[in-house]
Amino acid sequence: MVRAKSGRSESAARRYVLCGVPKSSAALDRFIEENRAFIRRRSPAALRGKLPLNPHGRHHDLSCIFRALNRRYSRDRVRAHITFGPWVSRRRPRKSIKMGSYCGEARLIRIHPALDRPYVPRYFLEWIVFHEMLHHLYPARRRGERRSIHPPEFQAHERRFRDFERARRWEERNLESLLRA
Ligand SMILES: [Zn+2]
Repeated sequence: MVRAKSGRSESAARRYVLCGVPKSSAALDRFIEENRAFIRRRSPAALRGKLPLNPHGRHHDLSCIFRALNRRYSRDRVRAHITFGPWVSRRRPRKSIKMGSYCGEARLIRIHPALDRPYVPRYFLEWIVFHEMLHHLYPARRRGERRSIHPPEFQAHERRFRDFERARRWEERNLESLLRA
């Protein structure tokens, strides 16, 4: 999952997005718990039923991106569905954005519809999609007391993405406009 936040408190999750180093902290645990609940509330069937797959955006084609990444970086080992998520209406301006998520039960990658914009470069979308694909290859596991959602082998594989640094820099510069989308 990639979630980015703006504002006063730079959360542990946000730091992961920016620097790739997850910090063990109560904030990160809380973040994981919140998002686990989000995924568990929906059964795989409900997820698929509620969400007709919509990988072809107005500006970006997720199936095309997925196929190319799968071939280049994963020897076609990722067997998952991909879709843009639905727009959710909200009363208050958002402070964070969950750009991508992966549900292992439904084998479903969801990408935030705010990323289907002409100004969002393809390499940025590729990074978000690739990150979620890696959740398929490296399921979360327990390491002693804590659950590791981005284990070291996950992070090493992620850094093989050719535009990794460039994508992170783009995110830093453009997060505010994504939040306003
Ligand atoms: Zn993740």
